[in-house]
Amino acid sequence: MSGKRTPGDYVFLEQLGQGSYSTVFRAVERTNGGRNYAIKVCGKKHIIREKKVKYVTIEKDLLNNLARGGHPGIVRLFCTFHDAENLYFVLEYVSGGELLSLLRRNGPLPESWSKHLFAQLVDTVDYMHAQGVIHRDLKPENVLLSQEGRIVITDFGAACALSNSAQDRAASFVGTAEYVAPELLLYSQCGLGSDVWALGCILYQLTQGAPPFRGENELKTFEQIVALDYKWKIPTTPQITALVRNILVLDPMQRPSSKQLKQNSWFSSIDWNDRATLWKGIWE
Ligand code: ATP
Repeated sequence: MSGKRTPGDYVFLEQLGQGSYSTVFRAVERTNGGRNYAIKVCGKKHIIREKKVKYVTIEKDLLNNLARGGHPGIVRLFCTFHDAENLYFVLEYVSGGELLSLLRRNGPLPESWSKHLFAQLVDTVDYMHAQGVIHRDLKPENVLLSQEGRIVITDFGAACALSNSAQDRAASFVGTAEYVAPELLLYSQCGLGSDVWALGCILYQLTQGAPPFRGENELKTFEQIVALDYKWKIPTTPQITALVRNILVLDPMQRPSSKQLKQNSWFSSIDWNDRATLWKGIWE
């Protein structure tokens, strides 16, 4: 795309989702063959009132940087523009819905699907971490599925660059209660290991249908997290329970890195270099 875009360049269609500081619409470009996009519209007044200006800027910069690698698991950002009221992020349209909706529809997933989707997640987080980016809000709402059923991570609104994490954003809880890592609750610290913690919660949820830590309110959820108080409700394989147990440890230094996760024996059937097979959708 070239030249400054305006909202008038697009036909805005149905609402795809609503976040805390944005609304996302499907939109088609008036020219260029009517290609589909997801446009995230952030109200300027709301962003300023909620002191989110810095986060929106970070989201744009990090997505632009990550997009250069062209990784299939990161949502593509085509361009941004603004008018008097709003900021607009023109994103790749990911049409298969949220991973959360799949879990709500299907309940716990078969092991083959869990492994395939989780492998794609691990590969994407490994790429992100190699670029020095911590997502900080990994959860099934922020994992979208393409039409073919491959994962695309979205919502980098809480993300930060590793170099800035300690001084900049460490003290703030910006994630989602169920997936927040204990080091953030206990020591106001957040690092690459916090994303790995969220991956552990997501793997549990893929096989159990619900996250490992969920109290009747946020405080109760936090108490469960720091006490590592979770139970397996549906029988699953020893390899999966061992992997989740390895990840869900209080000390982030004792958690496997995303690279180490790839070496786990549960993934022995996965060839990480065979990108075509790894990135096949579950519905292909
Ligand atoms: P949060 O309150 O979680 O920070 P947010 O304001 O940052 O939310 P997003 O999470 O980016 O907003 O988007 C809200 C919802 O819109 C998503 O959960 C998803 O359902 C939908 N959505 C976002 N991006 C896309 C996309 N590229 N394609 C399709 N749907 C999308």
